[in-house]
Amino acid sequence: RHGRRDARRARLRGRQQARDDHISYVDSLPSGQEKGLFYALDLGGTNFRVLRVQLGGKEGRVVKQECDEISIPAHLMTGTSQVKLFHSQFCTLSDQWITMSHVMFFFQELFDFIAAALAKFVASEGEDFHLLEGRQRELGFTFSFPVKQSSIASGTLIKWTKGFSIDETVGADVVAELSSALDRQGLDMKVTALVNDTIGTLAGGRYDDNDVVAAVILGTGTNAAYVERANAIPKWHGLLPKSGDMVINMEWGNFRSSHLPLTEFDQALDAESLNPGEQIYEKLISGMYLGEIVRRVLLKMTEEASLFGDDIPPKLKIPFILRTPHMSMMHHDTSPDLRTVGAKLKDVLGIQGTSLKTRRLVVDVCDIVAKRGARLAAAGIHGVLKKLGRDIPGSDKHRTVIAMDGGLYEHYTIFSETLENTLREMLGEEVSSSVVIKLANDGSGIGAALLAAAHSQYL
Ligand code: ADP
Ligand code: MG
Repeated sequence: RHGRRDARRARLRGRQQARDDHISYVDSLPSGQEKGLFYALDLGGTNFRVLRVQLGGKEGRVVKQECDEISIPAHLMTGTSQVKLFHSQFCTLSDQWITMSHVMFFFQELFDFIAAALAKFVASEGEDFHLLEGRQRELGFTFSFPVKQSSIASGTLIKWTKGFSIDETVGADVVAELSSALDRQGLDMKVTALVNDTIGTLAGGRYDDNDVVAAVILGTGTNAAYVERANAIPKWHGLLPKSGDMVINMEWGNFRSSHLPLTEFDQALDAESLNPGEQIYEKLISGMYLGEIVRRVLLKMTEEASLFGDDIPPKLKIPFILRTPHMSMMHHDTSPDLRTVGAKLKDVLGIQGTSLKTRRLVVDVCDIVAKRGARLAAAGIHGVLKKLGRDIPGSDKHRTVIAMDGGLYEHYTIFSETLENTLREMLGEEVSSSVVIKLANDGSGIGAALLAAAHSQYL
C-alpha cells in the first residue's frame, strides 16, 4: 500500500514541480494603525514561541510585548515512526484502524501540547495588557510548513519538513486542529490569521521599515516571501485585492534544478532523510543540514584516508550528531592551536588527541560547506531582487530592504558575511549600496500578531 502511495506522490510531485509558490491571502501589510491586544504563536522549528503584544496605533506603535519560548519534545515531532513500530507490534488488529487512530492521536497530542503552553502563557497576562470589554482574544498563527491556504485563516498542510514527520496528517486543516485544541484547554481565543514565518517576517519588517520588499528565513529551514502585483500572478482567479498587491510565499526550500550541483554527500543525505527528493535547496543551505553534511564528509575522509586514525570513531556514524551550532563554533575558532575544534571533536564526536593538522582540515570542511550554503542563499535573494526589478541601478534612489530572520543567519557570522559579500558581488557596487539586509529578530511573531489585528473579527 505504501509503495503505491509513494508512486502516486512522486507523480503528483512531478506535476507540481514547475511552481511551488503559494498565494498567502495577505493582500495588505500592516499600516501602523493596528490597535489592541493580540497574541501570536509560532510553530515551525525545534522551539515554538508564544507572544502577546499591546498595539497602540500610529502613535503608540508597540506599547508592550512579551514572549516565551518552549521546546517541543522530540516524540511529538515524528508520529509515523512510532505508528510503524506500534503497527508491527500489534499486527493482529486491522491495518487501517491502527494507522488512522494513532496518527490522529499524535497530531492531537502535538496541538494539545501547544495549546496547553499557550493557555499557561495567557494566564500570566499582566495588567499592562488590555482586552476591550466583551472581546475575544485573537491570535495570529505562524505555521512554518508548506500549507495550501484557502483564506487568511484556513489552510491545509501539504507536507512536513525540517524533521517533523506525522505523515497521515498531511491534508489536515491546521487552524481547525489548533482551534479544537484551544477548546479542549478551555481557552477562549480565535485564530484570525494563519501565516508562514516568511509572511510574518515580511509583515513585521514592513511595520518597522516601509522599504521592506521581501523576507528571508535562514534558520532550521529556509524560505522566502515577497510582495507581488496581484495581476502578475497566474494562480490568482479571485477579485483583485484593493491594494493591488499580494504576498507570495515562495517555498523556495523546495527549489531543485539540474543546475544545483549536488555532491555524493548531498545525495546520500537526501536519500536517507525523512523527505527524500524534497526540499533540495533547503538541504544545501539551512541550519538543520549543514552540520550533517560536514559529518558525512568527515566520515568519508576517515574511511578513505584515516583522518582520525585507523579506527572509525563510532559516534561519527550517527546521523545529525554534529549540529550546525557545533560546526559554527569550530569554524569561528581563532585560537592558535584550534582549541575549540579539539574540544568539540572530543565532546561531540568522542575523538581525542587530534593534531593541529587534522583540526585545520576539519575547519576547511566547515568553511567549504558553510560558504557553499551562503553563496547559494545569496543567489536565491538575487533571484528575488531580479524578479522585483531591484537588481538594476534605478534613476530614483530607493532603498531595497530584505527582512531576515533565523538562527543560522543571526549566529553564524561567517555564513552571513559570505552571503552579504556574494550578494554584493552579484549586484555590483552601485546597486548593492541601496540594498540592505535587516535582521528582524523574531519579527515574525510581531508580524503574525499584526496580521491577526489587521484581520480581526471586530473590524
Ligand atoms: P527555527 O528556524 O527553528 O524557527 P531559529 O530561527 O531560532 O529557529 O533557528 C534555529 C536554527 O539556527 C538551529 O536549528 C540551528 O541550525 C541554527 N543555529 C542556531 N544557533 C546557531 C549557531 N550558533 N551557529 C550556527 N547555527 C545556529
Ligand atoms: Mg522560526
